[in-house]
Parts: sequence; structure tokens; C-alpha cells
Amino acid sequence: MGSTSFWQAELSATGAPELSSGALRGVHEADVAIVGAGVTGTAAALWLARAGARVAVVEARRIAAGASGRNGGFLLCGTATGYTTASATYGRERARRIWGYGVTNHALAAALVREAHELGWDCGYARHGSLRVAASAGEMEELRQCVPLLLEDGWQAELVERDALPVRLRAAYHGAAFYPADGEVQPARYVMGLALLAQRAGAIFYGESPVTDVSETRGGVLVTSELGSIQARTAVLATNAWLPELGARLNASWLSSVLTPTRGQMLVTEPIPERLFACPCYADEGYQYWRQLADGRLAVGGWRNHSPASEAVADETPAQPIQQRLAGFVHDTLGLAATSVEHRWAGIMSFSRDGLPLVGRLPGTRHCYLAGGYTGHGNAYAVHAAHVLAALIQGEQDPDADLFDPARFLAADPPGPIDPNSKAGEPEGAQ
Ligand SMILES: Cc1cc2nc3c(=O)[nH]c(=O)nc-3n(C[C@H](O)[C@H](O)[C@H](O)COP(=O)(O)OP(=O)(O)OC[C@H]3O[C@@H](n4cnc5c(N)ncnc54)[C@H](O)[C@@H]3O)c2cc1C
Repeated sequence: MGSTSFWQAELSATGAPELSSGALRGVHEADVAIVGAGVTGTAAALWLARAGARVAVVEARRIAAGASGRNGGFLLCGTATGYTTASATYGRERARRIWGYGVTNHALAAALVREAHELGWDCGYARHGSLRVAASAGEMEELRQCVPLLLEDGWQAELVERDALPVRLRAAYHGAAFYPADGEVQPARYVMGLALLAQRAGAIFYGESPVTDVSETRGGVLVTSELGSIQARTAVLATNAWLPELGARLNASWLSSVLTPTRGQMLVTEPIPERLFACPCYADEGYQYWRQLADGRLAVGGWRNHSPASEAVADETPAQPIQQRLAGFVHDTLGLAATSVEHRWAGIMSFSRDGLPLVGRLPGTRHCYLAGGYTGHGNAYAVHAAHVLAALIQGEQDPDADLFDPARFLAADPPGPIDPNSKAGEPEGAQ
């Protein structure tokens, strides 16, 4: 059945530019063929086209059809887990570098948003910080430890006591940490903005063209869809939740044991006259998230941990019991019993076994690269991840290239499995 997100519907209603050259038909050549046109694929197209490569993007549906056009729009920093847990799991220095990755990502994203704005394209970007809200006394205790650690490492964070929380949260929640550097976007418009910039730099987009095969040839890669193909020097796999399918074509079936497709659901209410929240909020280790849009609507998502079995699917159809929980937050927790829900949807994320993304060359191949497995946190990583990929593809060094190298899963002592429903596998932000 599927669904259309509020953002995708808004994009269509306000007139999205037609950037696609239609379906891929016939035989083409490119320097780089990119599979998937979400935030990863469009950003990779942009950086590579700007570096002078002939870039072709092949998308099964439309630009921003996947999770990138369906997410909460939170532009956060840091790992899937809180900073103390991340430091304990990955080591303090690695946790610091991961947070720095998000800071760089935000700076790159903000600059691109400005460029799009100069072309008359609004990505719905705002930077009012984010509030990580504690759903339990234990979570508040963790935030009390996170904040000084973040400050010590040079990042911005402030503790918020319960009596300073937004009024309607005070009964159910225990306090929060405020991260002033965070931001938000209208995710479908944001991805379309990246695609617009990529196209102006020379990238060609093909839509409605599911890639059926990727194979390495002498000196390059052949990317094949039903009606056409692209012979390229390099391929970038940017299909996130669908990476294991392409991996299987390239002798990388191990991807399916490292990446788990997981459904996330959201809703949007009618406009609410009262200004309830000044910035995006997330709680319960990132399982719950919400933000109030400029017109007063509430966008609410998450609560996946209340029914993990039903959400372990790659089906973009919104479903009970999660939708009931989302509405329950609006009607019961916030006390807005008369507020009606106007839009519901779902999207598919990709949770990695160690809670960190995979960015780099696909082990076992010479010409195929990938970025994905963002564990519900793609806006925090993807633009920078694509920048790292572009450097690697051009044979350049990047100081962050080692951080999320996919080869770590094939090392002698690979990171142990992380249950996507445990806290360690959870994003700090929306998921
Ligand atoms: C409900 C929800 C809320 C979320 N909230 C947030 C948030 O607030 N902040 C945040 O940072 N992250 C959030 N995320 C996660 C974020 O959306 C993802 O991490 C991110 O969008 C991944 O981007 P991507 O470009 O790698 O993948 P996608 O956007 O999923 O793009 C992959 C594309 O590949 C295409 N494709 C698949 N197979 C093929 C094929 N064979 N051939 C051609 N094309 C193919 C798909 O159609 C799709 O367009 C959320 C996700 C969901 C579902």
C-alpha cells in the first residue's frame, strides 16, 4: 500500500522542479553512476559533479522517495546513543570525532541550503537547537553526565531542569539537555535542493528506473536497470535500507547481516495556535520525537520500541499500534485531546550492527563505494559522508575516511552484534 509523507505531499503541492531526464533507457557512459536519490545519492552527485566528474544518478522511484523524504527533518550531531554511552562503547576519542563529523555535516548542509536559497529554493532550514528530553529519572541522570563531557570536548550543550521544560512536558518528563547548534529542515525540500545544485553542476538524474544489477567489469562497473545501463568507472551505492540487495549482486551478502531495514512512522496534526515547542525535541533515548512546524502543526514520530516486531519490516505503510502511540502523545501526554491528525506515513531506515554508518569502498570490490546504515540518523551524517566518498573516489585523502570504513565488519575481530531494539543500537535523535 505504501504512503506519502507530509513533506512529499507538500513538495508536490507547491510544485517540485522536474529534475529527472526520465527513465534510464539505452546504453550510457559516465565517470560515476550513483544508485539512489535520497540525501546520500544527491549529495554524492553534487560533490562529484562539482569535482568535474560526469555523474549519472539512477533512482527506482523519484528524488526523495525513500527515508530522505519521509524523516523528521532533525539535523542533529553525534551518535545513535548519548555521548556518555558513545564514549563507553566506541572510546572517548572516537565519540569526539563522530560528534565532530556531525558538526562538519551541519556546516556543509547549511552552506548548501544557503546556495539553494540564492537560487530561490527554500529547504525549510532553521537553527534553533534541539532538546533531548529525559523520559525517566535514569535518562536525566545520563544527561547530567553527558553535558559536562560534551563541554569538555569542546561541543555546545546545556542542562535543562524539569521546571524549565516546555510547559506541557513537565508532568511526564524529567528534564532535558539543550544542544544549541542543531537544526531542522523540510526533508523532501532539502533533498530536492541538493539535487537542484547537483543538476546545475552537471549531474543527470534518471527516475522510475530500479537498478537490477551492478557488476564489476574490466576497469569499471556496469549498472543495469530494466531498460538501460550505465558503464562507469565507479559506482556509489546510496540505497540505504536496500543496500543488502545490491550488495548481494557484488558478492557482499554479508551486508544483510550488518544492516537491518527498520520501519519508522510519523504523523502530522492540524495547525495548533499555541506555540508549544521552540525547537525539535526527542525523548526516551531518541525513540520519541516531535517538532512544531512554522504553521503550528505538530510532526510526531517514533515509539517503535513499543512494537519492535511489527516495525522490523521494509513496508512504507503506516500501521497500528505505533500510530495509536503517536496520537496518544498528542492527545494524552500533551493534553490536546481535540487536535486532529491530518497525515500519517512510514519510511524505512537502515540500522547497522554497531550503530554506526558504513562509508567507504565496498570490501571485495575495486570500483564500488557505499554510504548508509545511518541507524535512523542520516541527516546527521550523509552530506559529509558523501563528501568523504567523493574524496576517496578522486584518489584523495580525507581525515574522516577511517571513521566509518565498512571493512571493519570483515576485520578479524568484528564489532559484536547490537540488537537494533537495545539502547546501543538507537539513534540519539529521531529514528
Ligand atoms: C520516519 C523516519 C524519521 C526519521 N527521522 C530522522 C531525523 O529526524 N533525522 C535524521 O537524521 N534521520 C532521520 N531518519 C533517517 C533518515 O531518513 C535516513 O537515515 C536517511 O534519509 C537515509 O538517506 P539515504 O539517501 O541514504 O536513503 P534513502 O532516502 O532511503 O534513499 C535510498 C533511495 O534508493 C532508492 N532505491 C532503492 N533500491 C534501489 C534500486 N535497486 N535502484 C534504484 N534506486 C533504488 C530508493 O527508492 C530511495 O529513494 C528518519 C527515518 C524515518 C523513516
